[in-house]
Amino acid sequence: MIAIIAVSAGAVLYDVHARNASAATSTSKKTTTASKTSTASQSKTDSSTQTKPAANQKTVVLDPGHSAVMPSGSEPVGPGASETKAKDMVGTKGVATGVTEYDFMLNLANKLKPELEKRGYKVVLTRTDSNSAHSCVERAQVANDNNADAFIRLHANAAESSTPTGAMTINITAHNPYTASTYSQCRKLSDCLIKAYCTATGAKSEGVVERDDLTGNNWAKVPTTLIEVGYMTNPTEDKLMQTDAYQAKMVQGIANGIDQFFAN
Ligand SMILES: [Zn+2]
Repeated sequence: MIAIIAVSAGAVLYDVHARNASAATSTSKKTTTASKTSTASQSKTDSSTQTKPAANQKTVVLDPGHSAVMPSGSEPVGPGASETKAKDMVGTKGVATGVTEYDFMLNLANKLKPELEKRGYKVVLTRTDSNSAHSCVERAQVANDNNADAFIRLHANAAESSTPTGAMTINITAHNPYTASTYSQCRKLSDCLIKAYCTATGAKSEGVVERDDLTGNNWAKVPTTLIEVGYMTNPTEDKLMQTDAYQAKMVQGIANGIDQFFAN
């Protein structure tokens, strides 16, 4: 999952979700129905899974990427797939700030949740701490079990060079062998989020990437997108993303994107 390159004293860990966009078209073998994932890890997820959404209330599941603890082993990249991938990866780290992606994404999710609840959404997090392990299949299962109206996977990007900056969203292709029926909703969610996020933050847009090799996207049966909020390998963007003022813009941008997804 992760290539480590010693840039300076601190090693920079790749967030593989975005880099090799060329992998977008790789599809795997024949599909069958998804097996039910373990419920143990769900006990470490957000307790508000227990409460039923009010009538017409939309449910948003937030998935802060990675964690400090890795589930061991691998899992099928999609329901019924013979191809497997590591259950999770440790993610990247700020080249200037040293902040880990998993702590950053949990912090962002904890700021986004009250904002979305203020806007009337029911919000569920796939994890509420960074010291429990959650595989990508288990994260998608939380969204499926909550019949999420939107599943937002929160990540930060990394590159070999310190030059790249900007944000992107990632969803399945129209020919995804596991969950193609959700394609148009996933694409719409990706479009709404990247537009609103870049408008609110001023971040450069790297647009929408479509690919079928992300386990968490493939196992989700609900509208799903993964947002890479910016590059932790770019010192300027890394430092900017750790300021309260910019994080407030990130929260507004993502929340506006979700509003626009449901409004249109
Ligand atoms: Zn990531």
